[in-house]
Amino acid sequence: MTVVKVETQTDRSAQVAQVIAEPKSAVLHRHLHHSFLSLARGQGSNLILQDGRKIFDASGGAAVACIGHGDGRVVKAAMKQMSEVAYCATIFYTTNVCEELCQFLVNSTRGHMARAYIVNSGSEAMEAAMKLARQYFLEKSPPEPRRTRFISRDQSYHGITIGSLSMGGHKYRREKFQPLLLDNVSRVSPCFPYRNQYRGESDQQYVDRLAAELDEEFQRVGGDTVCAFVAEPVVGAALGCVSAVPGYFKAMQAVCDKYGALLIFDEVMSGMGRTGTLHAWEQEGVVPDIQTIGKCLGGGYQPVAGVLANHRVMDAFEKGTATFVHGHTYQGHPVGCAAALEVQRIIKEENLIQNVDKMGCLLSQLLRQRIGNHPNVGDIRGRGLFWGIEFVADKATGTPFPAQAHVAMEISEMGLAEMYSIAVYPGSGTVDGANGDHIILSPPYNVSAEDMRFIADTVARLIEDFFADRAGA
Ligand code: PMP
Repeated sequence: MTVVKVETQTDRSAQVAQVIAEPKSAVLHRHLHHSFLSLARGQGSNLILQDGRKIFDASGGAAVACIGHGDGRVVKAAMKQMSEVAYCATIFYTTNVCEELCQFLVNSTRGHMARAYIVNSGSEAMEAAMKLARQYFLEKSPPEPRRTRFISRDQSYHGITIGSLSMGGHKYRREKFQPLLLDNVSRVSPCFPYRNQYRGESDQQYVDRLAAELDEEFQRVGGDTVCAFVAEPVVGAALGCVSAVPGYFKAMQAVCDKYGALLIFDEVMSGMGRTGTLHAWEQEGVVPDIQTIGKCLGGGYQPVAGVLANHRVMDAFEKGTATFVHGHTYQGHPVGCAAALEVQRIIKEENLIQNVDKMGCLLSQLLRQRIGNHPNVGDIRGRGLFWGIEFVADKATGTPFPAQAHVAMEISEMGLAEMYSIAVYPGSGTVDGANGDHIILSPPYNVSAEDMRFIADTVARLIEDFFADRAGA
């Protein structure tokens, strides 16, 4: 695809149109009528198109590319593994790389977690987490077979398969499949400080109200029927990098303890260093019973995700049937494990999580300076290198744009035009009127201060131009 160089505002929309021109493709793309930029390769923080143009990957794809693209060390480790044992049936065999990766993960929790289970995607990890939780209550002594329910949160995303989609509260993604979804999942409000500010509550009052809501939900469905409460420690795709107020997760865990239910953290997007600590729960003063991880485990070099279970859960299995009735053809895939191990070695040896913290602080400062006062920027929030910018139609009231306006999607598409050449990750309002569109900035962990200035300047220019065009339209 050739993209013309544009100089003026009018040309800008022509260029955006060209980027998304309608193609013919045999691929069942998510949007059949969109054209997608065709990538030739990735190099560090850049994606390079077939025509040689570079796009700065300010979101690391979907918050995945944590050490950047095209790292030869990971390629080498994966290829070595592929030439040794590319695949094995885990019903009969294990591999050193799978053992090593799980040991690394367990060690990284300072003794809290007992075992790890390696799968290929975040959705699979969430399915496995649900089944682990259910089976735990059958394995423990005495067993509690009545526990079949889950409580999750509105405006959440836990994956796209039927079980994980049932858990999520993303209205648009659920809508068409509602009749197929599990009816033993109910949801409570998320902790969303930006949207709660209009109530004038203190953090403590907010936490108390949300804890009471969770408690009431346990009572409503029957406290002894619930397997687990499920939440993302920092909400990613559904809300755009929303952290809870201090004390929230401690209060939620206390409610779970009261009813004997497990706490499951979905760290598929927020985990493995993305939010400034290897595990997002390290910043919450709680340790979940079960934790899922995904994107930054393998940094996109292989499809690899995982589930960690603590001693409470694994001891019940050990003393029970010692069999987890679950399994995928490609679980513990040796090449996925080898790539993940190498990505994690690089993160550790290069102290990249320290850089996440440092660069994240700089990015947030620069973003606030550049666009904090923009009338359509409602909130800039995040942790580590995981930053969300929420857009609003009215800053004073926080009124979002209607979902049909596709504001975040259009901003992201415009970002791909040559004059910006930046990739940001869009997310739209999950419940009409309850939250707005947002974009996520989640660049690789090894970015520099200069990269942060580039991201802040380019994103500011993009947002200013987008809303100026919109106002002029
Ligand atoms: N949980 C969370 C928090 C996620 O962000 C995602 C993916 N965006 C998933 C689960 C599902 O992961 P996957 O797309 O790899 O199936």
